[in-house]
Amino acid sequence: MKKWQCSVCKYIHTGETPPDKCPVCGVGSEKFVLLEDSPGAQEGAGASAKLAGPAADDPISRPASKPLTPSPPKKPGPLPVKAPASFYERILGLMVKHHAHPVSVHIPNGILPAAVVLFILAWLFDMDLFVKAGFINLIFVILALPLVLFSGVIEWKKKYNQAATTLFKIKIVAASLTATACLISVSWYLIDPQVLSSSSAWIFILVNIVMLAAAGIAGHIGGKLVFKD
Ligand SMILES: [Zn+2]
Repeated sequence: MKKWQCSVCKYIHTGETPPDKCPVCGVGSEKFVLLEDSPGAQEGAGASAKLAGPAADDPISRPASKPLTPSPPKKPGPLPVKAPASFYERILGLMVKHHAHPVSVHIPNGILPAAVVLFILAWLFDMDLFVKAGFINLIFVILALPLVLFSGVIEWKKKYNQAATTLFKIKIVAASLTATACLISVSWYLIDPQVLSSSSAWIFILVNIVMLAAAGIAGHIGGKLVFKD
């Protein structure tokens, strides 16, 4: 049985042909590269072919005349002569290598639910202290967002080759919506600290719920890309 790897998200598909569409990131079959036949199949014809084991669904039996040598890996072309990376490029490379985006995104993802719950409690029970606490929480989100968004864009460009599938589009829209809703909430509170006692309090709460939902969607897609499920 052959193994095919999505060149965008690294998802591995087992089968005679690549899937029409990557089930994780959504790119087409042309983005899949053939990795190699599974070790069981490579052991050749005859009795050892039975060692292929769980690949019993493979209806195609290997012809006995097939050479025993494993299929050679894809030959890379001549190595391009690379100019030494600039300091900035090296920093970007290190950010992707050490997962700056998933690490930094846990800051807002951890704080946002607390801020929104505090605002809802403040609204329901008219507690000014909770409004202030929610606002301070959002300040920390605002401080983390530049790194989160920047590292996200860098990761998309460098790791996922700027793939413009629906999945990545939704993730980008969700991240932008989160940042916009957060900026609106903070600005609104600064202009009117009594917003949760005013008649527009429900709109303020709605903006915060949209912010939380959008962050949840962006995070869910991130998890899908990381865990490939
Ligand atoms: Zn993929």
